[in-house]
Amino acid sequence: SYDEMKEVRKKNLNPALVTNFSKPLLIHEGHMQWLFDETGRRYLDLFGGIVTVSVGHCHPKVNEAAKEQLNKLWHTTNIYMHPKIHEFAERITETLPGDLKVVYFVNSGSEANDLAMMMARLYTGSFDIVTLRNAYHGASPYSIGLTAHGTWKFGFANGFGVHNASNPDPYRGLWGGYRDCVVQSVRATESTLEGGECSSAQKYVDQLEEVLSYSIPRGQLAAFFAEPIQGVGGTVQFPLGYLKKAFEKVRAYGGLCVADEVQSGFGRTGDHFWGFEGHDVIPDIVTMAKSIGNGFPLAAVVTTPAIAATMSKALHFNTFGGNPISSAVGISVLDVIKEDKTQENCQVLGPYFLNKLAEIRDKYPIVGDVRGKGLMLGMELVEDKETRQPISPQRMMEVWDGLRDLGVLMGRGGHYGQVLRIKPPMCITKEDVDFAIAVLQQVLDKTCD
Ligand code: PMP
Repeated sequence: SYDEMKEVRKKNLNPALVTNFSKPLLIHEGHMQWLFDETGRRYLDLFGGIVTVSVGHCHPKVNEAAKEQLNKLWHTTNIYMHPKIHEFAERITETLPGDLKVVYFVNSGSEANDLAMMMARLYTGSFDIVTLRNAYHGASPYSIGLTAHGTWKFGFANGFGVHNASNPDPYRGLWGGYRDCVVQSVRATESTLEGGECSSAQKYVDQLEEVLSYSIPRGQLAAFFAEPIQGVGGTVQFPLGYLKKAFEKVRAYGGLCVADEVQSGFGRTGDHFWGFEGHDVIPDIVTMAKSIGNGFPLAAVVTTPAIAATMSKALHFNTFGGNPISSAVGISVLDVIKEDKTQENCQVLGPYFLNKLAEIRDKYPIVGDVRGKGLMLGMELVEDKETRQPISPQRMMEVWDGLRDLGVLMGRGGHYGQVLRIKPPMCITKEDVDFAIAVLQQVLDKTCD
């Protein structure tokens, strides 16, 4: 029963595990965009297991592919060849531009970023790395150093040799730029990365340069990591032009550019398959996880042959990386993204959803900002629209629980836990969006009463 499980949880599970909502939900089943609790009650899942369930819970096609492989071969480790890993590696590289041709399979986003750190350090012979404040790149002992989001850091977990640059957040950042920033859309139609450059972009690049020139031992930059749209940090979109200029600056200092696509990849942003493509840049290393396996533990790092060549300086090994089942699942996810036209769905539903959220923002005093691209959306709640004081944790919980009580599950993020995150399985429909909007209004009516 629910209560028995809570007891076991208290006694036998990691006490630091966070659950969503004031009272954790017990989930028994999932089908496509729906989750079902122990009573059979269904919920519209607008968070997809933290942006992981890309094509739908228990998608029949992906399940079939997993089952077929399950009955053929589970595991050999990479000391032998098996057909699936080769097919999968080829298929992944077909989605990537430029010279991004060499794939390393691992099992989680943290592992992927660990490996990317190692690659950059080996290739450049330098040690120092720059990430953006408010970024989340993992929680392994190595990658937690890249994670600059205050909530997740604790004492000794700070990264040795990792420096943080100011976060180019148009809503809360040092130089705002909110009003002149097209990317920080007011209307969905303005929300693409087209249009003029944001004036704040250059200021943030100047600040990055200050970190590069003052904090890094001269000529010893290994890499710069960035999420094309920040996820855990609260669906933060950078000012238009920032990432392109930042990459140019980093390269001028001899560093590699790493795009962490753990949340923004696999067509979620709609216009492009990869988030970085929306910034008109090509990274040297791309890390990916979550959506790649639709919830199956699977992740990868992709880089260029030149960078991969220096990896032979270190024998790199990963027991489960690219195992036959995860490769079969990954291939199937790529097939389904095409067949079910999920990227196109993000492209169509994203602006529709964002427009509706913008109407809500205009109507309610506690909605400070709405933003995002495709089906990677966020709604920032505030106590006061003018001062942008973040909503109190109690009120936030009221909204979050209220949504759940009416059958809609959203995520939460941001420095103050003040952002509702909407990143559903990419199979949701227009009717689902309408349902979510109606529920959101009902909850906000009550909270703002
Ligand atoms: N990078 C990003 C952008 C993430 O959002 C996460 C997980 N939230 C990670 C890396 C780490 O992934 P994992 O939890 O699979 O280690």
